[in-house]
Amino acid sequence: MDNLHEKVWFRCLNVIKDNIPLNSYNTWFAPIKPVKLDNHVLTIQVPSQFFYEWLEEHYIELLKKTIRKELGKNGRLEYSIVMDSAYNNNQSKPYTVNAPTLNRKALKNPPVTMPLDLNKDTGKTVPNPFIIPGLKKLNIHPQLIESYNFENFVQGDCNRLARSAGIAVGQNPGKTSFNPLLIYSASGLGKTHLAHAIGIEVKNNFPEKTVLYVSCEQFTNQFIDAVKNNNQNDFIHFYQMIDVLIVDDIHALAGKPGTQDVFFHIFNQLHQSGKQIIITSDQPPVEMKGIEPRLLSRFKWGLSADLQIPEFETRISILNKKLYNDGVEMPQNVVELIASSITSNIREMEGALISILAQSSMNKKEITIELANNIIQKFVKSTPREITIEYIQKVVGDYFDIPVDKINSKTRKREIVQARQLAMYFSKTYTKNSLAAIGSKLGNKDHATVLHACKTVKNLYDTDRSFKKHFDELNDSLKIRL
Ligand code: ADP
Ligand code: MG
Repeated sequence: MDNLHEKVWFRCLNVIKDNIPLNSYNTWFAPIKPVKLDNHVLTIQVPSQFFYEWLEEHYIELLKKTIRKELGKNGRLEYSIVMDSAYNNNQSKPYTVNAPTLNRKALKNPPVTMPLDLNKDTGKTVPNPFIIPGLKKLNIHPQLIESYNFENFVQGDCNRLARSAGIAVGQNPGKTSFNPLLIYSASGLGKTHLAHAIGIEVKNNFPEKTVLYVSCEQFTNQFIDAVKNNNQNDFIHFYQMIDVLIVDDIHALAGKPGTQDVFFHIFNQLHQSGKQIIITSDQPPVEMKGIEPRLLSRFKWGLSADLQIPEFETRISILNKKLYNDGVEMPQNVVELIASSITSNIREMEGALISILAQSSMNKKEITIELANNIIQKFVKSTPREITIEYIQKVVGDYFDIPVDKINSKTRKREIVQARQLAMYFSKTYTKNSLAAIGSKLGNKDHATVLHACKTVKNLYDTDRSFKKHFDELNDSLKIRL
């Protein structure tokens, strides 16, 4: 009767094999070893906690039926979980979790752990695709891009919350309430840069911590490979070692239930053990499509912070920082032209800057407004050009030599009122903003004031020759930007 447990398990396997795809069988059931059978309780040994959770989640019904069939209605299944990992230098500390199964609650309440002298041979050893056996945690390459640091990440109203949360996380990974920290924005607004910056900050503050940056795509491909090679466990073990996990563009998980599943488990394990998770996405959790609700709800646990389109001044600072870092110079009016022509994507804005630099150095031409304008025209051909209220304010302010904040003030001094009215008129003519939006940005006025300003400008144009001259000059300098 000694090997009764083996016989029973063998019969169970035959039933299971008939009920699931061979691939799943090979992955999830072939590695299981029957350990003992005591009093209608069959103990099976599984390679990891993750394995156990996976079985409980995906195969609970099948296991329940099979065990009842073989052992009668008092039959029960217990798991013995072995933490055999390639990463702890083979000093595996086998322990057993006797988790009463056929009981979903076992998942919610962490299973009781107790030391048990398990037979160390846990079956086949599979090569780990991500780490060389015996490799220490510290040797995991974080995949961080050095220049994407906080130093190079220009601060502005557009990123204030996300940036400060990032710094807090960088100084205290896993210990703030920003876990996970989710950074979201449209493309080209700095998610990847900020995510790297946090990783770099952690590395600077805690060199011993294991940080890993992966794109969601990379994560998905690794997982697909692991499934193909039948070594999901190594995949999981690898991710369990990370102290700060950064997954970029998490929205790419949409419609990939298998990868979402495995990410869910990794997320839980890391989160439970106080590890930091940072994810980026093109949308806030509430708007993400194709992602399981249980994952979405976890994404909302920590802090979701967005990056907005940077204001004109911040765009200028970003360009200047880049020029400074690269040790090159460019006339400020050209920098301003770039910042006013390309408004909603920092990556494209930097692209235009680089093209202008390249063109001028290749053709040994001086960087002039005309050269820049030509390049920008080509650069943004696909996207309609746009003049912003901020840009108009600046052009009008420069023209009359009045600081922008004066134009925006409440003052009723004649020259300033006139500049403000012109800015309102041009904003109405050249932007798609509503009268109310124009008013609120230009001196906090209401829409009626803007309407009145537009009428006044028309009247003055017809009656006041010097006003007409100013108007025409301003109009010309704005029009070349279109
Ligand atoms: P996303 O991941 O949101 O698409 P990226 O992080 O790739 O955007 O940013 C695009 C480019 O803009 C990168 O070169 C990045 O360095 C730069 N960038 C974005 N935000 C800032 C910022 N606040 N300061 C400096 N550079 C920035
Ligand atoms: Mg990105």
